[in-house]
Amino acid sequence: RDMELEQLLQAHEWTSKLYHYLLKNTEHGKPALEYLRSRGINDKAIDTFQIGYAPARWDTLVQFLDKRSFDLKVMEKGGLISSKQDGTGFVDRFRDRVIFPLHNRTGKVIAFAGRILGDGQPKYLNSSESRLFSKSRTLYNLHQAKTDIRKTRQFVLFEGYGDVISAWDAGVHNGVATMGTSLTESHANIMRSLADEVIVCYDGDNAGQAAALKSISILEGVGFNTKIALLSDGLDPDEFIQKYGAERFKSQVLDGAVTSVKFKLIYLKKNHILLEEDGKIAYIKDALEIIAPLPSPTEREIYLQDLSADLQVSYDSLKQECNELRQAMQ
Ligand code: ATP
Ligand code: MN
Ligand code: MN
Ligand code: MN
Repeated sequence: RDMELEQLLQAHEWTSKLYHYLLKNTEHGKPALEYLRSRGINDKAIDTFQIGYAPARWDTLVQFLDKRSFDLKVMEKGGLISSKQDGTGFVDRFRDRVIFPLHNRTGKVIAFAGRILGDGQPKYLNSSESRLFSKSRTLYNLHQAKTDIRKTRQFVLFEGYGDVISAWDAGVHNGVATMGTSLTESHANIMRSLADEVIVCYDGDNAGQAAALKSISILEGVGFNTKIALLSDGLDPDEFIQKYGAERFKSQVLDGAVTSVKFKLIYLKKNHILLEEDGKIAYIKDALEIIAPLPSPTEREIYLQDLSADLQVSYDSLKQECNELRQAMQ
């Protein structure tokens, strides 16, 4: 038996219980609880996601673990606490932060993410990488979402913890998120073993849309059917739900998700100035680069029809140019 690993898992489990208790039942936790409420996170969500609070002290967790005879050196290697700079002992890694436990696929706590209350840097702090926790392989909420995912064969992929939580509260139970880093091939392979379709639901700002483009290519690379949800005004999914409600999120954002080709065309269009002829021509050229390689003639026709109506260019000339490009590509 791997005693060190078992100790670490045990310590993570207890730490998560400690932080959750401190949030819900103590004076220290009150400002954090108010902060969560102000963001529309209710008690049920706090329990479902085991959200907690790490107090503004240097040794709450270190003392807690020490009293229970955990080997602090092992805890430090496991990413749970930090060693003092002069090497004379250990200090808490998370101080005065809302705590989101991160679970592995089977539901064991393997790390934490801590959010600052309000503004400040860094906004989020994660446990360091350890033998338990690898960012590039962990998906937030997978342990709870997997039942629904197996049933629907579909994922919703978000950028942030808050997005997953608000969506869950809105009745969307197949949502997961990466740890703020970009989606990796390992993530995609894990997802692919459970589902066939994914809706990428990233933030509506430029960073989110650029990240969506990258994720699409990774997801399609492992054979996913990919759709992309479009969020207006630079909102993220959490903000959208708080502002417009659950129903509009589901009927408008998720049900209105577009194909990856459509998303790429929309994305392209934003980067061209269509009032000028050369802008229009450049946009058409880039759009044809996306449409021409599509294997299905009907699919190509649908996008070319769209483009033709949108830009008031004849379908025939678009089709001709598209076919020429196709031949050049072969
Ligand atoms: P919130 O709603 O709490 O402000 P968010 O999830 O909308 O946070 P974004 O800025 O959209 O935050 O970033 C998406 C994700 O990236 C976060 O959920 C988090 O996982 C990660 N992240 C953001 N900022 C940081 C940071 N400074 N350090 C580490 N991870 C970060
Ligand atoms: Mn963002
Ligand atoms: Mn966001
Ligand atoms: Mn947000």
